[in-house]
Amino acid sequence: MAQITTAEIANAGVVGAGGAGFPTYVKLQAKPDTIVINAAECEPLLHKDKELLRHRTTEIVAGLAVAMELTGAKRAIFGIKYKYHDVIEVVKSALGAGMEVMTLPDAYPSGDEMTLVYETLGRVIPPGGLPIAVGVVVMNVETVWNVGRAATGQGPVVEKWLTVGGAVAHPITIRVPIGISLAECLAAAGGATIDKPYFVNGGPMMGPLVTDFANDVVDKTTGGLLVLPKESPVIRNLLRDWKAIARIGKSACDQCCICTQLCPRYLLGHPIEPHRAMRSLGFNLVGEPDVAGTQFCCECNLCSHFSCPEGLDPRNVCRHNKQKLISERKRWENPPFNPERPRLLKADRQVPTSRLIGRLGLRVYTNKGPLEDRLLTTDHVVIKLKQHVGAPCEPLVAMGDLVQIGQEIGRPPVKDGKPALGASVHASIHGRVAKIENGTIVITAE
Ligand code: SF4
Ligand code: SF4
Repeated sequence: MAQITTAEIANAGVVGAGGAGFPTYVKLQAKPDTIVINAAECEPLLHKDKELLRHRTTEIVAGLAVAMELTGAKRAIFGIKYKYHDVIEVVKSALGAGMEVMTLPDAYPSGDEMTLVYETLGRVIPPGGLPIAVGVVVMNVETVWNVGRAATGQGPVVEKWLTVGGAVAHPITIRVPIGISLAECLAAAGGATIDKPYFVNGGPMMGPLVTDFANDVVDKTTGGLLVLPKESPVIRNLLRDWKAIARIGKSACDQCCICTQLCPRYLLGHPIEPHRAMRSLGFNLVGEPDVAGTQFCCECNLCSHFSCPEGLDPRNVCRHNKQKLISERKRWENPPFNPERPRLLKADRQVPTSRLIGRLGLRVYTNKGPLEDRLLTTDHVVIKLKQHVGAPCEPLVAMGDLVQIGQEIGRPPVKDGKPALGASVHASIHGRVAKIENGTIVITAE
């Protein structure tokens, strides 16, 4: 029997560590036949999942065994890119009952969960559906590691792994207390090597621009910190504003359809066609749910960072459309779906990671982030009360309280006798509560 319950997983603060922040206990209440571990790590320059798999293999396998037992899944698959031969061998040597490794193409976005489920199991998740619709739960490598730690009495989620890369002196993967400043993470990589650096929180494809570097901190979803110059295509794209995107898109899009032809969700048979979203800009149709199926866009950015030969931004047009649909509570119910399309088209339309790296101007940065296997220390952390999908936690401590590392300091609110969707947050250092403000708890070491 698993030594932990799903309620205890929630109390341990385990959420999707791959960037989504979805509370893990909810996934572990499902009854899949298979768990797929997302070890694709398809964002260029990020390495923390590979380093975790290399250096914490046993703990990850133990966490996966707990997840299998809690859900009743009889099969588990590690989806790892074929080119990581050493990681594959390490994982294969540690597998438990019902576990296996399947190799993935070195393409983007092989870590998109719908793409991953298709690549590993050949199952196509319907548009708008979750992996459980085809009997699958997808979990990130670090999430499973956190489940294993919670189940083996090593405590709740108080540490985070991230790669610090791009224009830094020593690209590195580090283990840090949650709530540490991004500036301290940058210092651990030897600092920026360029004047006027810009920062991306996460990978170059999906990570947002850091707008307040001096005050921003690591939370449970931070997977990377990238330093890039303003001239980088990644930063240029992130600095575009919506009015310019819409104005230029309306006049310059020649409807070549390449954005649609390479869209990973279109290739899964979903009814998304970003070129039609672009066309709709000229007809004031942004926001009509059945114009282009933009509610099914996973925001992978392939269309904007790679596919469009005109340098336009269909991803942001889709995102704008999606947000408008959500605000107007509109959904495309029962959309058409072509599950044969992936079999017919997908294999020939993969975008190789190396070409993507070239297009993003990232070849100049060392594509490595070796692990420095020590926990970074700090005298000050800022713990966000919302680091997950769901309701923000309510503080369980007051100003001036002494707290111990691992102590629960915030918990999701209870509504109608039930805890709201979310996961607890914990102190990541010993110290005293110095402030509770703006949705955070600040702890200073003593
Ligand atoms: S961002 Fe572009 S390529 Fe990615 S799913 Fe959305 S429309 Fe398709
Ligand atoms: S690839 Fe670019 S130019 Fe072609 S249809 Fe899409 S947005 Fe328009």
